[in-house]
Amino acid sequence: MRRVVLKISGESLAPPEGYGIDPGSLDSTAVQIMEGVEAGAELAVVVGGGNIFRGSQVASSLGIEDATADYMAMLGTVINALALQAALEGRNVDTRVQSAIQIQEVAETYIRRRAIRHLEKGRVVIFASGTGNPFFTTDTGAALRALEIGADAMLMAKNRVDGVYDRDPRIHDDATHIARLSYMDLLSKNLAVMDHTAATLLSGERLPIVVFDILKQGNLRRILEGEQVGSLVWSPGDTKDAKDVSDG
Ligand code: UDP
Repeated sequence: MRRVVLKISGESLAPPEGYGIDPGSLDSTAVQIMEGVEAGAELAVVVGGGNIFRGSQVASSLGIEDATADYMAMLGTVINALALQAALEGRNVDTRVQSAIQIQEVAETYIRRRAIRHLEKGRVVIFASGTGNPFFTTDTGAALRALEIGADAMLMAKNRVDGVYDRDPRIHDDATHIARLSYMDLLSKNLAVMDHTAATLLSGERLPIVVFDILKQGNLRRILEGEQVGSLVWSPGDTKDAKDVSDG
């Protein structure tokens, strides 16, 4: 796999209680990304913001309009992006943050061709602010960026769940792991892999999706080196060759 977009949720950076940024979680995420770069991949990262502010869930209780709360939440992803950038630079990984909302004192503005250039130069590009629009999610931001930059795959990082299950394995002991599934399965079953808009975008372009546990060290490197880790969403007849994803 040459170029990938890694989607991490804000929760991956959070302490166990779920709010804010935990130094250990931040560093272990940075280490995985560093290993991914060392494995030779061009890596773009989309960070969520659920650990800082989750727009729609708090909007009504605060008496804030949904759109305003969503913008607040997008700024939360900028906080995460800067933290991740600092952690990566601390490990000598070259990075650039590009934000879908202009915030020029702290991050570059998203420019597609510039992002691609950074990747070609071996820099990790961290995309902040999701799509830049309220009523969307960072999953959709990640799907959009993956298609825009011509990624070979989208890697959906999960916390403590090593792929796709028929039910939530954190609640149901008898949940069954699904190693491979089609876009049709992804869209028709309620599998909690990503939000529906993101799934629709990716399945429309038939971009392979790998769902894996980012809390297990070494997983990202293993995927990029061609090991089959987690679950693969792919359908026969895809334009992108899924063999590239599962076999390296
Ligand atoms: N958000 C938004 N537009 C976007 C991306 C994100 O409005 O394009 C807001 C939305 O309120 C969302 C929040 O930012 O709930 C955090 O993003 P997300 O829930 O995807 O973060 P994650 O769950 O991955 O941490």
